[in-house]
Amino acid sequence: MLGPQGAGKGTQAQRISRETGAKHIATGDLVRAEIKSGSELGEAVKDYNNRGELVPDEIIIEMTKPHLEKHDAWLLDGFPRNEAQARALDEALEELGLELDAAVVLEAPDKELVERLSGRRTSEATGKIYHVEHDPPPEGDGEDPGPFIQREDDREESIRRRLEIYHEHTKPLKDYYVEKDILVTVDATQAIPEVTKDVMAALERKDA
Ligand code: AMP
Repeated sequence: MLGPQGAGKGTQAQRISRETGAKHIATGDLVRAEIKSGSELGEAVKDYNNRGELVPDEIIIEMTKPHLEKHDAWLLDGFPRNEAQARALDEALEELGLELDAAVVLEAPDKELVERLSGRRTSEATGKIYHVEHDPPPEGDGEDPGPFIQREDDREESIRRRLEIYHEHTKPLKDYYVEKDILVTVDATQAIPEVTKDVMAALERKDA
């Protein structure tokens, strides 16, 4: 799944993973888990993550590869982020004898993305994503006890930098996947269930 930060890749990947049984692999989650663990690797990637910069390609590729091997079907969220990573993914897939069914791009204008990201909160207990205005975290004794955390890189400086990187390095991947004839574009400004419906319909068409 491709698309700028805040387009809803994580939310959609969670929903589609539930519907299809494909494993959701989010490289941002791998990075944050590594940082939280306090490992040497976590220390090495922490600054990049907090500033909204990309982690070096070699590191992210090595972190992602083992997860591709573990499952027959997956949704890759947040990877590849540039052409070098796309080529590394192709090589890994060739070694594994696998092919991508589709590259789904979720699209939304920057103004909306900034608004979504700055209001985003994640439950530390369940990993579920909320928005302070559009989908506020439950208060009191709700089924999700929280706490509800704002990601380090969801602050204004980092958000701006992440969108800049997206436009410069990740968006050009659309052409890469157009050439492979597997690109699907979905309007991510729609309501969450509508986006899921469009993605599922596109995957079914690709499957046919
Ligand atoms: P995300 O949750 O996908 O927005 O990723 C959060 C952060 O993790 C990014 O801003 C990068 O620092 C790092 N990261 C995640 N995926 C990649 C990737 N494919 N290449 C480089 N850095 C990544």
